[in-house]
Amino acid sequence: MLTPSGFISTEQKEQVLKATDIVQLIGSFVQLRASGKNFLGLCPFHQEKTPSFTVSPSHQSYKCYGCGTYGDSIRFVMDFENLKFFETIQYLADRAGITLKITKKGKKESLQQTEIAKCLDSAQLFFRLNLKNATGSSAIGSYLKQRMLSHDLTEIFQLGYVAKGWTNLHDYLNKKGISTKTQDDAGLIKKGDKGGYYDRLRDRLIFPIRDYRNRVIGFAGRIIGDGEPKYLNPPETELYKKSSVFYGISEAQDQIRKKRRVIIVEGYLDVIRLHEQSFSEAIATCGTALTAEHLNILRRFNVNDNILLFDGDLAGLKAAERSARLFIENDIDSKVVVLPDNLDPDDYFKKYSKDDFQTLLGNAKYDFEFVLDRAYDSSSSSGMEHQKTVIDDILLLAQNIKSDIKKELLLSKIAATFQIDKRTLQNKTQRKADRKEPKPLPKLGNTPVTFNREDLSQVKFMQYLMTNPQCFKQVRNRVQPEDFNHSSISRLYSRFLLLNDSEFITLKPTDFSEIFVEYAPLITSLFHHKGEYQIPHNYRPRSDETAVMLDESEELEKLHSEERLERLIKRLKNQKRSLDKKVLSGVNQDQDRSRLLSMIEKRKHTKADTVAEKRQLNHK
Ligand SMILES: [Zn+2]
Repeated sequence: MLTPSGFISTEQKEQVLKATDIVQLIGSFVQLRASGKNFLGLCPFHQEKTPSFTVSPSHQSYKCYGCGTYGDSIRFVMDFENLKFFETIQYLADRAGITLKITKKGKKESLQQTEIAKCLDSAQLFFRLNLKNATGSSAIGSYLKQRMLSHDLTEIFQLGYVAKGWTNLHDYLNKKGISTKTQDDAGLIKKGDKGGYYDRLRDRLIFPIRDYRNRVIGFAGRIIGDGEPKYLNPPETELYKKSSVFYGISEAQDQIRKKRRVIIVEGYLDVIRLHEQSFSEAIATCGTALTAEHLNILRRFNVNDNILLFDGDLAGLKAAERSARLFIENDIDSKVVVLPDNLDPDDYFKKYSKDDFQTLLGNAKYDFEFVLDRAYDSSSSSGMEHQKTVIDDILLLAQNIKSDIKKELLLSKIAATFQIDKRTLQNKTQRKADRKEPKPLPKLGNTPVTFNREDLSQVKFMQYLMTNPQCFKQVRNRVQPEDFNHSSISRLYSRFLLLNDSEFITLKPTDFSEIFVEYAPLITSLFHHKGEYQIPHNYRPRSDETAVMLDESEELEKLHSEERLERLIKRLKNQKRSLDKKVLSGVNQDQDRSRLLSMIEKRKHTKADTVAEKRQLNHK
């Protein structure tokens, strides 16, 4: 008889379960203590301070009285390790020393994973050898010295090196008899235009990324000389999923459990530097913003303190706010530390001591305090309408909090910060909660948001705004969140309004779903709607000087929201078109003209745009 997964028999599943002691299994991840006939510990699936997670040896099951999860050993491993059924059985069988008889399909899948893992191990050996054989006077040698990466640190983090050249690793792996397909599946090589393969990582310091079972799952690389990109993160593979990977988790996990604290930083070198300063509970996301999946992993550690550590520059502040909001929305407490003087952690310790850092940690703000302070700062010098938008936005955040007590606390803080009667705020959130929302915004996931016919002008408007951020200045006073009937679009737009013009104008279309991460499905859907707005791969926003100017217009205010949005886009488009003409007429050399022509073609905003621009160019 086959299980739903199709390739493991029920007998085999039973055999694996029998061979596994649930107390021992769970005890290796969660600290358990005996309590009567059962064992008790802090639940790895929700955040708690007093244990309500019970493991029963007699029933070989677990149950949490806090969040209600329950199950057997298989369920536990699936949820805790985020594995599929088949992988879980395999994992438990390995643990118990059982050899599984697997059908063809299962065999093929597990074989591929094993091949990839072997390939990554060989690559790791190659990178390590390169670093060991490098002399102190070589490029990598002096780079390590310059970045103050000691021998001990390179050992702990198993750093590696690959020299200049297109096929160093590829040649090495070929000699080891590893197939090109496996090298490609492992994310190590790339197919060139002429059909041959070349190394993804060249002339780089190599950071192996390991999971908490200490398996290498991918490699990131920092360029040694000049060149772009500075950091190259691994591509998605069977083993490497960026939205749930933390760099340093393998090295940090013991300290995280021991100190019951985790410090989340932005970069690979930040993790290493903190580790060196004996803050070895530091981990980082790998070149991506924090996701809800990341938080699910953090939840398992059941720490007291989730500390978000960010650089003190504008980008750092923005990233900090984004992460803090994610924590708040997912009902996990976190604290935010922003480094002084625009420093990153690496530079910080050149200037400050360990004790200074400890003080910073001690003074960390709670996530909601941080968000609230930033909101207050951004609104204190602006008009009432903007202040209202800011407060609305914070209220929305409060509303997403599941715990009533926490929600109350936040409302009190908002009331105190903005000096508003708390009852007014309560009434407002109550009204919002009562209003039935036809389409709730999906959480991060792959569910596309659908739009109705009557949403079309709103969709078009948002598409235009996100691909032409330079027009934000002209738009922000003319369009209010209330102009959007689509509630999610309205909320997203009110988030836009929180950014100032200079912040907004720097945004690339691809930035939006990273920055407004909780609206990612909506943003993706907006861009893809009717396929009208393709983001060209060489997209570059216009600089502020060429920003389109809009005529002041009285009649615009009198129109209905929908009509106003449409009229506005039309105007903006016309403005941009005449600006393009001006730019084009200044172009003399044929080469530049053809480059511009292809740029315009690629921009493909609307057919009309392109046709008009082409015509203009051909007439020259
Ligand atoms: Zn629980």
